[in-house]
Amino acid sequence: MMHVISTVRAFQKFCQGAKRPLGLVPTMGALHDGHLSLVRQGKDECATVAASIFVNPKQFVPGEDLGRYPKPLERDLELLSRAQVDVVFVPPVEEMYPVGFSTHVQVAGPAMRWESEIRPGHFDGVATVVTKLLLLAAPDIAYFGQKDGQQVAVVKRLVADLHIPARIRVMPTVREPDGLAMSSRNAYLSPAERQAATVVYQALRAAEALYRQHERRVPVLEKACRDALASEPLVNQVGYVALVDPDTFEPVGLLAERPAMLAVAVRIGSTRLIDNVILGG
Ligand code: AMP
Repeated sequence: MMHVISTVRAFQKFCQGAKRPLGLVPTMGALHDGHLSLVRQGKDECATVAASIFVNPKQFVPGEDLGRYPKPLERDLELLSRAQVDVVFVPPVEEMYPVGFSTHVQVAGPAMRWESEIRPGHFDGVATVVTKLLLLAAPDIAYFGQKDGQQVAVVKRLVADLHIPARIRVMPTVREPDGLAMSSRNAYLSPAERQAATVVYQALRAAEALYRQHERRVPVLEKACRDALASEPLVNQVGYVALVDPDTFEPVGLLAERPAMLAVAVRIGSTRLIDNVILGG
C-alpha cells in the first residue's frame, strides 16, 4: 500500500522509520515516463522509494506558467502506486513555506549562467526546495534526470558544499519515439508546435554527428546546432546553445577536448523547451 502524506512532520517520521536504503524522487507532478524511469531505478536500488509532488512556486519566475502548470494528481498517484512507490509527499505550499519563511539556498558557480539569465532566481528556488527535501527525507540516494542538465550540476554542487549525505543519481533523458525529450510542458504545444519541437533533438544530433566525425571546434559544433534550430520557423527564440563542462557549466572554450554537455533552450510558441546531449561521454 502506498502512503500519501501531506505534512512535513509525517513525511519526516515515515522516512526516519523507513527500511534502508531509502530513495527519493523529487518531482513537480504531471508525471511521464521520464519521471517513472527515476522511480524504476529507485526500486532497483532501494528498499524504500519516496516520491514528492510539489509545484514549487519559488522556482517560477514572475510571468511564467506557475498558475497553469498541470496538476493531474489522481493520475499521478495512480502511476506512482502502480510503480510500487512506498510513500508520496504532496505538501501544500503553506506546509513548505509557512508564514515567516525566510531562508534561501543560493548556489553560485554552475547556477550563474544560461537558465539563470533567462529565469533569474530560478535556481535559488530549486536549490532551496531540493535542500529542504533532502534534509527532510534524508535519503541514501536522490534521483534526478539528465534532461535538466544545469539543475543536476546545481544540485550536485549544493550537496557537496553543504555536506548533505545523499548520493545524487542521474538518469538518462527519456524521449518520445521522434526524439523529443519528455517534459510536462510538452502538453502546452499545439499539434504544429509539437511537430516543430522535434527540431530540438535533431539539432543536438546534428552537432553530435559532427563530433563523431572528429570535429572538435566548438564554434563549428554550436553553429551546426544553431543552424538546425534556425531551419524551423516555429522556433521563435533560441535562449542559448552552449557547450559546457557538465559540472561547472562553464563554456569549454574553443576546442571540445574533454566530454562536454551541449545544452540548448528554445521557445516554440510560448513554450520553453530545454534539452542536452553529452559529447564524448
Ligand atoms: P520535474 O517534474 O519537471 O521537476 O522533473 C522531476 C525530475 O524528473 C527531474 O529530476 C527531471 O530532471 C526529471 N525528468 C524530467 N523529464 C525527464 C526526462 N524526459 N527524462 C529523464 N528525467 C526527466
